[in-house]
Amino acid sequence: MAVKPEFKCACCGGAFSNQKDSFYISKIDLFKSNSGRTTVCRECINFTFNEYTKKYEDKLYAFYHICAKFGWYFNEESFKLIENDKNIISAYLQKSNTGKNKGRTFDDNMREEHESSKLKETAAEDEGEDFDERRQKMIQRWGEGYGDNEYRFLEEEYNQWAAVYNCGEKNMQTLTEEICLTKLIIRRKRQLKESVKDDQKTLQDLMTSSNLKPMQETGANAGEQSTFGNFIKHIENERPIPEPSDEFRDADGILKYIRVWFFGHLSKIFGKQNEYSAEYEREIGQYTVEVPSFEDDL
Ligand SMILES: [Zn+2]
Repeated sequence: MAVKPEFKCACCGGAFSNQKDSFYISKIDLFKSNSGRTTVCRECINFTFNEYTKKYEDKLYAFYHICAKFGWYFNEESFKLIENDKNIISAYLQKSNTGKNKGRTFDDNMREEHESSKLKETAAEDEGEDFDERRQKMIQRWGEGYGDNEYRFLEEEYNQWAAVYNCGEKNMQTLTEEICLTKLIIRRKRQLKESVKDDQKTLQDLMTSSNLKPMQETGANAGEQSTFGNFIKHIENERPIPEPSDEFRDADGILKYIRVWFFGHLSKIFGKQNEYSAEYEREIGQYTVEVPSFEDDL
């Protein structure tokens, strides 16, 4: 008696006699000797899709993720048509097997994404060297492998710290950069609903090392306000008085007074020709009477 073939699921380990009913179709080369079907059973894939949907709270992105895993071509329009179906994956695969998406796989998604990112790069290059240079600087500072948004987050975060605290020294710069990177990790993990407890601990440690911990900061602030000099220093560092506008620059004329009647006069006494003596001559000219000359009358 011939032994009935068994198809095993690589995920749950279950054995199935009917491959067609138990495994979804997939056109990528990796499954070609498995009759073009996945090696994970339908049940397991449906379960994983539901888990991703819970994790991302975004059905479309969860579906994109599952497409990437099993090599199915991802198309948002086709997905919208069947998103309320009871068995989304089965309905999607039936739909995408017809029309312009027929025969396409996730490899095509990858190629399309690669081409569009190349286009973006070219557009960015066209924007001028400025963009390229900025990007290079960001990569140098933060390392490779972050998205544009993440680089922007890191830079903004760093600038915010630098605006409030003195990050001038190299060790402070490094610590502040580490704080920014840890905050980015926390942000990423929160988006994925993962635990951030350890990273928060790291963040606190970093803040302690760099003296930026909120509690110490409050303590430090109290100390600063205890003496007037420290209070002024605090204000000068954080909110320095801006340069006055022209009308208030020398409102009582004291600067001009010293320039003309002290520097100007002194320069004149010692016979120095400079901007002070010139200003002095101009000013004194207003109060000088020229001795009249009678040469023409003679
Ligand atoms: Zn399974």
